[in-house]
Amino acid sequence: MPDPMQHLVLFGPPGSGKGTQAALLVEAIGAHHLSTGRLLREAMAAESALGQEVRDHIGAGELVPDQTVNALVRDTLRGLPRSTPAVLFDGYPRSMNQAEALDASLTEILGHGVDLVLMLDIDDGEVIRRLAGRRECADCGAIYNIHTIGAMDPTGCRRCGGELVQRSDDHPEAIRHRLFVYKRQTRPLLDHYAALGLLTRIDGRRPPEVIHEAMLRAISRAPHARERA
Ligand code: AMP
Repeated sequence: MPDPMQHLVLFGPPGSGKGTQAALLVEAIGAHHLSTGRLLREAMAAESALGQEVRDHIGAGELVPDQTVNALVRDTLRGLPRSTPAVLFDGYPRSMNQAEALDASLTEILGHGVDLVLMLDIDDGEVIRRLAGRRECADCGAIYNIHTIGAMDPTGCRRCGGELVQRSDDHPEAIRHRLFVYKRQTRPLLDHYAALGLLTRIDGRRPPEVIHEAMLRAISRAPHARERA
């Protein structure tokens, strides 16, 4: 008997707003946010063996090897309380190998695969503009953009007062490379998920709250959610 947890994937190029939408969904539906990028940055900050292994890949805008992220996700899924209503994958899977590993891990550990893939659609120009202006709170991870009026308030993060910093991979060279890597290795997954009937595309240029509403509608219509209701 499959467990009732919803398995949602947030998909889209770097800078498409996955982190912002994840935070809104955590609040709205109590989802567990599983961001591989964040877990890897935490490992780097802690200077763990994993952090040291991935530092150069991340700084260059390259993907960390599949085997490493697949193991990280598997371990995280094993530790997830079964009462979690939904798990939200952000920045994973990023390759066909990862999509296959995710399906296998979910089926083995939680009884069923991915329920829904939410794709945030934005063009390259917007990706570059957003990433170059992105700042993150060093303490709570809240995301801001210097193009948004008032975001760079010198008092720091509006939520916790922490310092706003630029990510080490948000410099022009790494941004261009991440976009290239996305197109070559990650975007082909869209065809895979579309063929499985799991893909919903959402216009990522609209205001965050409008996108959020569209996501909630898609989640409430997801076949698994209906079957399990
Ligand atoms: P993100 O925060 O999702 O933009 O990820 C930041 C960086 O972490 C990426 O550019 C990769 O170097 C690495 N990374 C995050 N998730 C993955 C993944 N699923 N596979 C490989 N590398 C990843």
